[in-house]
Amino acid sequence: MVAAENKRNSEVLIIGGGVIGIACAYYLLKEGIGVRIIEKNQVGSGASEGNCGLVSPSYALPLSAPGVVWKTIKGIILRDTPLYIKPRLDLILLRWLFQFSHNCNKRDQMHAATARADLLTQSKILYDQLLENERLECDWESIGHFVVLKTERTMEEYSRINDSLKQFGLGGTSYVGKKLIKKEPALKEDIYGAWFYEMDAHLRPDRLMNEWKSVILQKGALIEENCALQSLEISGQTVSKIKTSRGDFRAKNYIVTMGAWTSLLQDQLNLQIPIQPGKGYSITMDRPKICPIYPCSFIARKVVATPWKSGFRLGGIMEFSGFRSNINRSRIKSLKIAAEEYLREPLGSGSRVEWEGLRPMTYDGLPLIGRSPNQENVYLASGHNMLGLSMATSTGKLIAELITRQDPHLDIAPYSLKRF
Ligand SMILES: Cc1cc2nc3c(=O)[nH]c(=O)nc-3n(C[C@H](O)[C@H](O)[C@H](O)COP(=O)(O)OP(=O)(O)OC[C@H]3O[C@@H](n4cnc5c(N)ncnc54)[C@H](O)[C@@H]3O)c2cc1C
Repeated sequence: MVAAENKRNSEVLIIGGGVIGIACAYYLLKEGIGVRIIEKNQVGSGASEGNCGLVSPSYALPLSAPGVVWKTIKGIILRDTPLYIKPRLDLILLRWLFQFSHNCNKRDQMHAATARADLLTQSKILYDQLLENERLECDWESIGHFVVLKTERTMEEYSRINDSLKQFGLGGTSYVGKKLIKKEPALKEDIYGAWFYEMDAHLRPDRLMNEWKSVILQKGALIEENCALQSLEISGQTVSKIKTSRGDFRAKNYIVTMGAWTSLLQDQLNLQIPIQPGKGYSITMDRPKICPIYPCSFIARKVVATPWKSGFRLGGIMEFSGFRSNINRSRIKSLKIAAEEYLREPLGSGSRVEWEGLRPMTYDGLPLIGRSPNQENVYLASGHNMLGLSMATSTGKLIAELITRQDPHLDIAPYSLKRF
């Protein structure tokens, strides 16, 4: 009986098996700490599965920027925006949108950009080491990424974003006209130009998740799939155990890595967790005959085309419609229309896998990484917005450093759970 009880104990229990949960497990195991992951479905079945696969420090600037609110309202009126908000009376979403609009100023934008650039830059360095050390087969290519603009005006507008990126050492190079088509022949000839970010990399997310999962299992991780957290048992300032669909589990420390679902623990943790599910879509297929060499972001449409040796994906769109998991046909159509606008051959042949996933969106564009102010053995690593894949390695390392009481490899203050 006691042995059976002990089998349900671990040093650290990670709730949620997305890329952030796996990264936390990996860096804790490297410190010699035993971990167990519980996942309500399968590891890697959330947002970490069908995303666009960019590891992109060049996306350091947050969505909340001066002028964004009016631009979005204009886009909604003119039906020319890749952002969709399902009309409904949702006071929590309304509050989130209000706080987002409040953050659309230069000071908050640059505060978030600085902290995002730190996390992204460190993560990229750690990805290089991870891929080198563990030899993960996930179509990793560190060759750069294009942000493609159709007109001279939009190219000029993006140059201001590029100027802001320069202060973080993340500035890009402009390619216009024939020079662009020579470097990326898959683009249509009438495209005006693009900014090239050579520090960016890309990989195939589902393969990363499978390979990384194997690595942590080899290092001794325990993984419980089809195991949903139901409640936390809190005594005083600690969580003593958790109740799941597969019985109770205990640990010395708990890490919440539930992505978009993390806010559901707000009341139990007595903590503000302003994370909204931001739905995105993707279609995965064979490579078209004229396949891009580089990943290409069609920024005006919020769509990315990602080429891999093993396939091709179109992904993007931002829809605030709650937690429902359903595929809206018109969003899938929008992905194809965007690709048709920019690519000579927008779609590959063969079967196409359509997918939707929920991004964990915070209104200030920053994740929550740190220890709960209310429970001394609970840590959160959630709310990575549109960049959870890109930020995963540094986040995992930070959590391992916090739990093992080492100096963090970067300043964690901007990600504090106390800021809301
Ligand atoms: C279309 C699209 C494109 C994207 N492209 C990129 C990109 O190119 N680059 C990039 O960096 N990011 C990208 N992102 C964002 C990225 O996918 C997310 O930020 C990231 O996957 C979040 O990881 P996570 O581990 O926090 O969440 P998830 O991967 O969603 O993992 C959370 C896990 O928690 C589990 N869970 C939830 N509730 C419970 C419970 N009660 N009990 C147990 N388990 C639970 C879920 O099942 C899930 O598996 C994209 C997202 C989308 C939707």
